[in-house]
Amino acid sequence: MIQHSQSLEKSAEILRIAVPRMTALSIPITPENYAVLYEYYTESNLNLTRAIDGLIANNVFFSASVNTGLYNRFIEERTPEVIENVQIETQILIKSLFNKVEEISQGTGAFGENLSQFGEQLQQSKSAEELNRIVLNIASEVEQVLVDNNRMKQDLVTLGNELSSLKADMDNLSKVAMTDELTSLNNRRAYESFAYNQLKLFEDNQVECCLMLIDIDHFKKFNDTYGHLIGDKVLSYVALALKNAVKGDDFVARYGGEEFIIMLPNTQLDDAVSIAEKIRQRIAEKQLTIGKEVKQSLGLITVSIGIAAFRTGDDIDTLLARADEQMYLAKSSGRNCVKFLK
Ligand code: GH3
Ligand code: MG
Ligand code: MG
Repeated sequence: MIQHSQSLEKSAEILRIAVPRMTALSIPITPENYAVLYEYYTESNLNLTRAIDGLIANNVFFSASVNTGLYNRFIEERTPEVIENVQIETQILIKSLFNKVEEISQGTGAFGENLSQFGEQLQQSKSAEELNRIVLNIASEVEQVLVDNNRMKQDLVTLGNELSSLKADMDNLSKVAMTDELTSLNNRRAYESFAYNQLKLFEDNQVECCLMLIDIDHFKKFNDTYGHLIGDKVLSYVALALKNAVKGDDFVARYGGEEFIIMLPNTQLDDAVSIAEKIRQRIAEKQLTIGKEVKQSLGLITVSIGIAAFRTGDDIDTLLARADEQMYLAKSSGRNCVKFLK
């Protein structure tokens, strides 16, 4: 899976160059944007490197939109691995840097204490004038060392702060990589990782789990009538309705387009069916409107839902395929209904 076997040092170097550069150019630190710079600095994508060198040679400003263009042209289909590797590598790197900072700052603290003790002892010996003068000199030197030492400590604190903010950027990066931009729900990649964990729990501990596939009915007609922007609003509305309909460990994701997924850990099929039925009814009974002063009705929105539960021998794809079959059965049975496989 891991394609990039960059050393930590190399990753560190790229991170230190790429992140400030992105900040300086006001390029948002998203996985996609970071992936472009990462690939450029690792020189692992020859076409991308050539394209960027060409831009630089022609003084093209390396803006966020140029970055997006590069991403779409050269990285898109490779991106999950690239992003995952960037994340893994940077997380390891940041952890090791943090440890190093902690080590050094503890070390210099002890050194400072020793030095100041030494200074005190010297100042206590006042037997002769000459000795006193030497002592004063030494003491002032020691003081200088302490000042330098404090400055060094300050540098370490600054470095620590920089690392903290870098770590926050990286956390953000991984959050963005798992979130659907339009609805703020989990995206398909987040779902796959969650489903994989559930499969393990089912295989190892027989923890039951149901999968619900929810597809908006005749959504294309809706887009065609009211336009894509209103279509997007409806997607956000349905996303929120789904989110509000579940609780606890339940996992809601936008699988793609107008298809959503709810994964219900620790849940038997019967219970999943009644939750789905409630969701279906709640969505179907609400009239949506647009406009503030003059309200225009968008009519009713309905969804078709297919449900499947983990079975022995399943993998993630077979579970999804069964839920999908049930969803299509719901469509062919007249839509706005729930179908499931015992
Ligand atoms: P069915 O009841 O059989 O599901 O009909 P449908 O029209 O919902 O199904 P179909 O799969 O034919 O069309 C889905 C449409 O969803 C096609 C596409 O225009 C629209 N769509 C997919 N993603 C988005 C999106 O992000 N925003 C908007 N506004 N529309 C989207
Ligand atoms: Mg569909
Ligand atoms: Mg549909």
